[in-house]
Amino acid sequence: MKAFWCERALLDGGVERGLLVEVDGERIASLEPGSDSPPPEVTRLKGLVIPGLANAHSHAFQRLLRGRTQSGEGSFWTWRERMYELADALSPEDCGKVALAAFGEMALAGITTVGEFHYLHHDRGGARYADPNEIGRAGIAAAREAGIRITLLDACYLHGGIGVDAEGAQRRFSDGDAEAWAERVNELEGGPGVRIGAAIHSVRAVDPESASAVAAWSAEREAPLHAHVSEQPAENEACLEAYGRTPTAVLADAGALGERFTAVHATHLADSDVSRLGNANATCCLCPTTERDLADGIGPARRLVDAGSRLALGSDSNAVIDPFEEARAVELDERLASGVRGTHAPADLFRAATANGHACLGWPEAGRIEPGALCDLVAVDIESVRLAGTDREDPIAGLVFAASAADVRDVVVGGRRIVHDGEHLGIDVPRLLQDLSGLLP
Ligand SMILES: [Zn+2]
Repeated sequence: MKAFWCERALLDGGVERGLLVEVDGERIASLEPGSDSPPPEVTRLKGLVIPGLANAHSHAFQRLLRGRTQSGEGSFWTWRERMYELADALSPEDCGKVALAAFGEMALAGITTVGEFHYLHHDRGGARYADPNEIGRAGIAAAREAGIRITLLDACYLHGGIGVDAEGAQRRFSDGDAEAWAERVNELEGGPGVRIGAAIHSVRAVDPESASAVAAWSAEREAPLHAHVSEQPAENEACLEAYGRTPTAVLADAGALGERFTAVHATHLADSDVSRLGNANATCCLCPTTERDLADGIGPARRLVDAGSRLALGSDSNAVIDPFEEARAVELDERLASGVRGTHAPADLFRAATANGHACLGWPEAGRIEPGALCDLVAVDIESVRLAGTDREDPIAGLVFAASAADVRDVVVGGRRIVHDGEHLGIDVPRLLQDLSGLLP
């Protein structure tokens, strides 16, 4: 039987030394701690092995904008214009290339599952490709090649704003109506390492009746359902003016809220929204590095958890791909806003980056190291300059507050090692990322 030997491993109960992990197919068959001398044929994982990290919200193509939209004045809305320019320029082949590079970078950061919130569907001007899922399939192929799991959250996107037709780049996003969206998405299939979920882009882009159709589609298939929610105050204002309700209330009335629902951002919420999301046991996916970059604001993470929501984390615009940075930002941003330290326990932030993220992407069997779970193992170098001297017996605070993606040395996804000693075993990630600049419009 295939096996890995972990010098140290972080289990639910704490750190185990000399942990032998036996693998059956993609899953952990058994755990045996205290083995000092592993058999020679067993793959050794040095450092501290932690569960696979989940990136619950990504738009892979936006990786191209890294370092190119961060300077100068503006707002979310001016950034969006730059993003639309890019979205209008990319071919399906380009999208596949940038997804492969971005997912490769995620693999190197210890991300074993990505939730790709996918809305770039059609050709320029909204013309249909022979296969209208060509770009979605390119994303799935990219994840496979990068060796990570993907939940393709195919987003319904119909309007350019409430009561406004899609125009310009947005025409590439729109299927016209929710029935056409469902017809197209029905052609997509999950498989090993691949699940298909649904997304309502936002209340800006999807009217309540169509939102309800997308929610019904996901309910029928018990598939994850994600939506951008209240990222900007202007979205709330337009929604209140058009419907007399907040975006969360509109989505609740459309039947979207529930345990399979994930509100992405959830930044500018009314108290009633916090209660609604909590009562529904929804997940709220915060994307702090992007929210900072786009001057979105700081979501009410503590109040959401108190109300009953689970937190997950996403790299969203991929201007930064570092799950440790996203995790600590939830707490550190809240410290700046509140003047209070210690609102979130490190273990809770770690769970957001691992088990919670996987669960909201439809992989409840991942994100922990235990028999029966998918065998995702991420070896972190605890002797790096960042982590040397941190507490080895109780390492979570050190990981959350000091680790970086660069500390990830080995990554195993579903029992298959894809990263060894900081290098991807299948693709030349730095080279792929370097080559992306040629795709910029
Ligand atoms: Zn997003």
